[in-house]
Amino acid sequence: MQKTKTLAPITDLFDPSYKLSYFCEGLSKYVENQLKSCKKEYKVSKTLKTWHKKDIFHIEMLEAFCPECFTRSVIKNGVKGRKLIFYNKKKIKTEIQAYKCKKCNKKFNTDISELIENNSNFTRDFKSKCLELVGLFFGSLRNVAYKVKKDTGIHISHQTIENWILEYKNKKKDSKYRYSGYYIFDVEWVKIKGVWNYRFTLIDSKQDIIVADKIYSKENSKNIKEFLDQNTRNKNRIAITTDLDEKYKPIIEELGFKHQWCLFHTFKNFNKIIKNYIKQNKVSKEEINKIKEEKEEIFNLFQVGSLKNARNKFNQVLVKIKEYSKIIQFIIINSLRPYFKTFFAFLDDKNIQRTSNKIENIFQKTFPKSVKKLMKIKNGVMSRINIRKEIQYQKKVFDN
Ligand SMILES: [Zn+2]
Repeated sequence: MQKTKTLAPITDLFDPSYKLSYFCEGLSKYVENQLKSCKKEYKVSKTLKTWHKKDIFHIEMLEAFCPECFTRSVIKNGVKGRKLIFYNKKKIKTEIQAYKCKKCNKKFNTDISELIENNSNFTRDFKSKCLELVGLFFGSLRNVAYKVKKDTGIHISHQTIENWILEYKNKKKDSKYRYSGYYIFDVEWVKIKGVWNYRFTLIDSKQDIIVADKIYSKENSKNIKEFLDQNTRNKNRIAITTDLDEKYKPIIEELGFKHQWCLFHTFKNFNKIIKNYIKQNKVSKEEINKIKEEKEEIFNLFQVGSLKNARNKFNQVLVKIKEYSKIIQFIIINSLRPYFKTFFAFLDDKNIQRTSNKIENIFQKTFPKSVKKLMKIKNGVMSRINIRKEIQYQKKVFDN
């Protein structure tokens, strides 16, 4: 058993994201934001807010918004009870905040996928802790089960742990060879030795997995092109969703992808342009109302069912363009008209992600789960290497 531990090439054993931990001394922008926003608790999530009320663990969205129309005007609409199993909290009664959108009436729950997979009561934290123990106990699953029982009082069979290892293995196998062709690309800032660097990440948006993850010292077109080209070579190239950075567009199209701008960022940006305009100009109350109505009309273009409908409606807007407020005209003429395809590509192909929001969830899953853990990252690297090696070993056993 010991012998196999030295065989596996280490680079194969890591999720690409783990490589970052070798040289990332600064905190990621997500973790950093989190530090600012909740100094009391070390819990880390960019999207979730949690607290204990008596013996109930409450989870809600940090900044609630409607997943359908992205408005922030949503109201709380009851809670959903569940029992979740965390390693440190053990089995705990949990309530998950539900919401209702005031604009489109959509009812939705807090998305807790960063904590837990579908159809499971074991949290990701619990599972990864168990896999870590597999490494520590050199693959003796009975010992792992014993340790888990001792730590948490929760009985899991060695068969369950085996299933988790297999799950991990299958996920790796499926994803490694066949990407869907639909991606999200994002750049995040990381501080390394006091200097800001850029973490480029590409995820497969259909399979929710990281395709590539690399640190660059500059966020320029040359690096972006190299990164996207190398990591999608000989793979399906269908579409990439990004935020509104202007550099991305020509590169993505040159490489043969359709390009989709993130709607969440788009709406935010249009709102900002309008807000600044109102602030800097003497705008009467009636005018403000008119602008708001027109803005709604524009935003609603994104809700129609097909590209053809959107195009028709947009053409109707263009016919009477002179009737719109100046700032709305500005948005239509400078953004929507020249880049219509980039805003509306998702209506033509339902597999194209409308937003880049998903990538943040993925960061949460693959990035260290807490600041505490992040601080200990250097020690952590060694134990992770061992887990991966051990999993590699388990795979061999199961493959035979
Ligand atoms: Zn809505």
